[in-house]
Amino acid sequence: MPADYHMHTPLCRHASGTAAEYVAAARVAGLAEIGFSDHSPMPSYYDDWRMLAEELPLYFDWIAEARAAAGDMPVRMALEVDWLEGGEAWTEELAGRASWDYLIGSVHYIGAWNFDNPADKQKFSDFGTEEAWDRYWALFAQAARSRMFDIMAHPDLIKKFGHRPAGDLRRWYEPAVAAVAESGAAIEINTAGLFKDVAEMYPAMPFLQLAREAGVPLTINSDAHAPAEVGRSFTAAVELAKAAGYDSVLRFAGRQRTVVPLS
Ligand SMILES: [Zn+2]
Ligand SMILES: [Zn+2]
Repeated sequence: MPADYHMHTPLCRHASGTAAEYVAAARVAGLAEIGFSDHSPMPSYYDDWRMLAEELPLYFDWIAEARAAAGDMPVRMALEVDWLEGGEAWTEELAGRASWDYLIGSVHYIGAWNFDNPADKQKFSDFGTEEAWDRYWALFAQAARSRMFDIMAHPDLIKKFGHRPAGDLRRWYEPAVAAVAESGAAIEINTAGLFKDVAEMYPAMPFLQLAREAGVPLTINSDAHAPAEVGRSFTAAVELAKAAGYDSVLRFAGRQRTVVPLS
């Protein structure tokens, strides 16, 4: 099984389990490698679903605990960093605060709107689906072009609650894939989408095919917020990757990548 590089910890206030439980679950799932990429802190209080900057030492402790439990299994240390316009300086500072193995870039906010938060779902009606998609994908492309991230998270997260414009969606996918390809970043297949309203992985097949054609490398991740979610639906994700033409995935260490075949 591929590495699972998108896993959270209770420091983000909406995940559960101990470091040892995540490691044990990874073993059961047959993963060769794991990486934690919890929601990164902001310079000051921002919302209630991320660690605080002063909690970073606790995060380092968590990683140390996981490594002690993991024995030979590599445990990578990463962050899932929110892309916010004007947030570049803080992201750069964070990048220098530890020897991260990779950084995941995510778009969860359109301006002040946390669009993937069920509590803010109503705002899709205010924006309209097309406008929400326009804004989301513009931010996604911008985040990739910043070249601050090794992996771009859950590419079509904007579909989470099932909001999708009618017709061929490639008019949004194409510029986004071009931006990722130009940046050299990888994307992830994120299996968590299967368990949301939209009931499919991120990204959709046409996006994945475009990414493959453009030479964008891949990772396969669960976005686990509990030990039972580690490596979830990876067999199906590997099948999806192969169906899109992928035959390899990336591993990361010290922000350097290695290509490994998809078995
Ligand atoms: Zn989360
Ligand atoms: Zn995310």
